[in-house]
Amino acid sequence: MYSLLIKNCQLVDGTGEPPRKADVAIQGDKIVNIDQSINIEAESVIDAGGKVLAPGFVDLQNHSDSYWQVFDNPRFDSLITQGFTSIVIGNCGASLAPLLSHDALLSVQKWHNLEGTNINWQSFSEYIEELSRHRFACNVASLVGYSTLRRGIVGDQVRSLEKEELAALKKFLSESIDAGAFGMSSGLSYSHEIIISEIELYELAKILTQKKALFSIHLRSEGSEVSEAVEESLDIARSTEVNLKISHFKVRNENNWQKFEEVIQKIENAYHKGYNVHFDAYPYTAIWQPLYAYLPRWAIEGGRQVMLKHFENPTQKNKILAYLNNLNVKFPSMLVASTANKLNFMGKTIGQIAKNMEVSSEQAVLHIIQNGGSEVLVFEESLNPDQVKQAIFHPLSFVATDGGGFPETVKDKLVHPRCFGSAPKFLHMALAENAMPLEKAIKKLTSGPAAKIGLKKRGEIKIGNFADLVIFDPAKISSQASYQNPYQFSQGIDYVFVNGKPALAEGKLTSQLPGYVLRKS
Ligand SMILES: [Zn+2]
Repeated sequence: MYSLLIKNCQLVDGTGEPPRKADVAIQGDKIVNIDQSINIEAESVIDAGGKVLAPGFVDLQNHSDSYWQVFDNPRFDSLITQGFTSIVIGNCGASLAPLLSHDALLSVQKWHNLEGTNINWQSFSEYIEELSRHRFACNVASLVGYSTLRRGIVGDQVRSLEKEELAALKKFLSESIDAGAFGMSSGLSYSHEIIISEIELYELAKILTQKKALFSIHLRSEGSEVSEAVEESLDIARSTEVNLKISHFKVRNENNWQKFEEVIQKIENAYHKGYNVHFDAYPYTAIWQPLYAYLPRWAIEGGRQVMLKHFENPTQKNKILAYLNNLNVKFPSMLVASTANKLNFMGKTIGQIAKNMEVSSEQAVLHIIQNGGSEVLVFEESLNPDQVKQAIFHPLSFVATDGGGFPETVKDKLVHPRCFGSAPKFLHMALAENAMPLEKAIKKLTSGPAAKIGLKKRGEIKIGNFADLVIFDPAKISSQASYQNPYQFSQGIDYVFVNGKPALAEGKLTSQLPGYVLRKS
């Protein structure tokens, strides 16, 4: 007798093969039988009624740790309702371990206020041990954040590393991978990584290559210098042969959009020359980021305290304002998603805030950064819709959220709708607009990302694999979340199984936590 039998499904197994009619049997946490028709008793039987059965989706670019949701909301409601059964955290240079000093954790401060949090680990191995004492709705794998590593050694200082410090970094990275980290991420545009030299990155990438681990790079620029930034990443891949993934790939701002083709071409060329390079993308045209990221580099180098000192100096402040004026960013239409300190600006545009304050939009930007605390995030419509489509449907891309798992009830901040709708929106775009066959779209969410990061026995429906599964109606799958009203679950997904247990059943969250932390082996 099986523990679960799913009958009458249109099986899309994740490999890219066309759908076929099948029944699938599960015993415990594994898939044990796949056949045209299975007639053996099972503890529970689901008639899929011809709907699609696919492997659970794998989110390579997830931030549930930096928003502290791994501890505050392990049900990851917004991710389960999209069909995700495994997520990869520790992205964009920030992870929750190793914590070589108190400063190390400050790299997540831009996304989450850390006051009152309880941290009982230092090394990555202790962190993994702590995570393994928790259960989650889906499986959780983590990268090591480069900013986290580096800040643990140099703190807020802006300088290159001494020889011994680099050696120490290499040792800690190596130990972290041995303890189960799937690779390293880098957030080269953020304040503590801006000054990192390529040499330093090469040294660390070599360790990743040796250990067959992933290097996930948030580019140094996604705007005017995107071409150089992509070239820098590809250079690392070419000289170290590291397994490279460019995170949330896009070209921002209308005046840079013409660079898109050239940049995609560079990535394709590297791939065709045999380098292991891919990128992930989300199906939205607005970005979500810390407001301080629009300031000039010199103003943010050295962290928040240094930056605030610049604001107090009238000459420096005017220099910053002049820079913002010339930036070609539409500040007035930018939407404030959240601030750490209560300013009642949530959901307001910077244009509205500036008008109320009777100042320019650029002055309002500085006011919000200064008074909003360490976590001021905004939405900016800055991507070309056709380029977003090209990116998500590109043969070298995976679709990922670059978001986190959130419940339906958060009221004090807006999150990017990609946290609630990325996978269903992508599938809807693929099918409704005939942009891509279902099986190819599913591959981008399943075996593609699973193979990229080296998740074993996940991402494909085959005998012996873990029963991470999604049942959905291809005619109904869609996202509901919007920028002003992001807390809307997706529609069209009936069941999500993680390790053989339902996290979503008959379209409703079960509150079960069948997921656990995954370690690289
Ligand atoms: Zn990033």
